[in-house]
Amino acid sequence: MLDAAVVGAGHNGLVAAAYLARAGLSVEVFERRDVVGGACVTEELWPGVRASPGAYTLSLLRREIMAELDLASHGLDVHVHEPYLFAPLPDGRRVVTWSDRARTHEQLAREWSRADAGAYAAWADRWEAAAARARPLMLQPPDRERWLAAIGPEILDGSIAAELAAIPSEPVRVPFAIQGLIGTLAAPDDPGTAFVAFYHDLGEAAGPPGAWGYARGGMGAVTAALRAAAEQAGAAVRTETPVERILVADGVAHGIVLADGREVRARAVLSNADPLRTCALAGLPAPEGWRQEGPTVKVMLLLDGLPDFPAWPGPEPWAGTIDVGFTLDDLTVAAADARAGRPAARPWIEASCQTASDPTLVPDGRHVLSMFCQCFPADVDADAAADAAIARFAEVCPQLPDRIVDRLALGPRELEARFGITGGHIFHGEMLPGQLLEDRPGARRFGGVESLYLAGSGAHPGGAVTGAPGYLAAQAAITDLQGTL
Ligand SMILES: Cc1cc2nc3c(=O)[nH]c(=O)nc-3n(C[C@H](O)[C@H](O)[C@H](O)COP(=O)(O)OP(=O)(O)OC[C@H]3O[C@@H](n4cnc5c(N)ncnc54)[C@H](O)[C@@H]3O)c2cc1C
Repeated sequence: MLDAAVVGAGHNGLVAAAYLARAGLSVEVFERRDVVGGACVTEELWPGVRASPGAYTLSLLRREIMAELDLASHGLDVHVHEPYLFAPLPDGRRVVTWSDRARTHEQLAREWSRADAGAYAAWADRWEAAAARARPLMLQPPDRERWLAAIGPEILDGSIAAELAAIPSEPVRVPFAIQGLIGTLAAPDDPGTAFVAFYHDLGEAAGPPGAWGYARGGMGAVTAALRAAAEQAGAAVRTETPVERILVADGVAHGIVLADGREVRARAVLSNADPLRTCALAGLPAPEGWRQEGPTVKVMLLLDGLPDFPAWPGPEPWAGTIDVGFTLDDLTVAAADARAGRPAARPWIEASCQTASDPTLVPDGRHVLSMFCQCFPADVDADAAADAAIARFAEVCPQLPDRIVDRLALGPRELEARFGITGGHIFHGEMLPGQLLEDRPGARRFGGVESLYLAGSGAHPGGAVTGAPGYLAAQAAITDLQGTL
């Protein structure tokens, strides 16, 4: 009998396995795909061309996990990408921000106004002070009172539009507002969007606090390093081994059944699968009202070269994150479209092109542009959505369509089929009020079942490549298992 069986080798399942094994427990990880990583993966999308079809940029992975598992020694090499956000506009203007707040202040003062720069700096300083207080809470069980004390009700429950209201020029607010809409069908005025943006500022993996970066070799380098750390600690990782059922008797999980019929007994089961899939595997009713329909279409474009932005010709803008969404009203209308069941006519896009700064990924001269596009209903035709997104991007980069050699469009249904995330939600469930902190499943006693732990992004503190849900589930399981030795 194993001490622990882990369902799924996403980054959180691998973090959990590494910590369990380091605690001296016997642990095996069972992954349905032939690669580990879940949505944090590098894949060969075209012959010789490797890219990250899920997550594409890294910040939130907890520094403590990186250090304790010594991920650098297992090949993880993270570089900050700059610009932080570049938002070109159809009239040739642009908003450029950097990981360094003083540099952003200077840029905004030069290209927009001193009032914009000053208001940006006041907001960014206030948010960074709150982020510094909140970062330690990411590896602790949910506690709304502590989060409230750290960040205040405006950031925890308010809207991103309200948080940015003091910045006079609307185009300057838009790329920051987009950060509050990721993984939602919310508009910038909606409650809870401030926290979505703030969560994206809690990073520490790429160097300066809050900076975002690329893992050399793509996001699969993160999960390759986690796998190596888990295996070095003694965990076994089995790919192409789907789990069909989690065994539960008398309210206690006691093992799993694999798709080939084999039964594996375990004293604890940690599920890295999303909440709905975990319920289905364990024969539990779905959590009431849980929202896990994905609003995102990920479009990967193979390019035969980098086009120019009229707002900033040359290669420099391609090295960072590119935001396309011109007005707050555009963002509001895109969300309203999707909420009414229609694909957004003018989707907003967050794009990145790691190949512009990482030559290990593609043959010479080729590039891969990753476009994270919202807002769409869950049953959207991904190819039609890709057409709309490319047309939108071309408004600020007219040469783009001529550089496209091939493309891969992944809507919620395709993300579900590829990564095994029910509904294709990037965070295993929206991160808006009602699905945060204590309202997100905690690690322990998932669905009221003893010895069943939720170790994926559906659990507190939520989605993105943080490692936190896997860490918290492992800590809970280690405490329980060692208490019963
Ligand atoms: C398109 C997209 C873009 C994103 N961009 C970013 C980004 O840039 N930065 C960022 O930080 N985050 C990003 N995210 C979010 C982030 O990738 C996810 O929140 C995170 O990777 C989820 O990790 P996880 O380990 O919790 O779960 P997953 O990565 O979903 O892993 C779960 C694993 O369980 C396996 N599994 C499921 N069912 C079974 C079963 N029955 N048997 C065996 N195995 C099973 C799956 O195959 C999968 O490998 C993005 C996500 C998507 C989809």
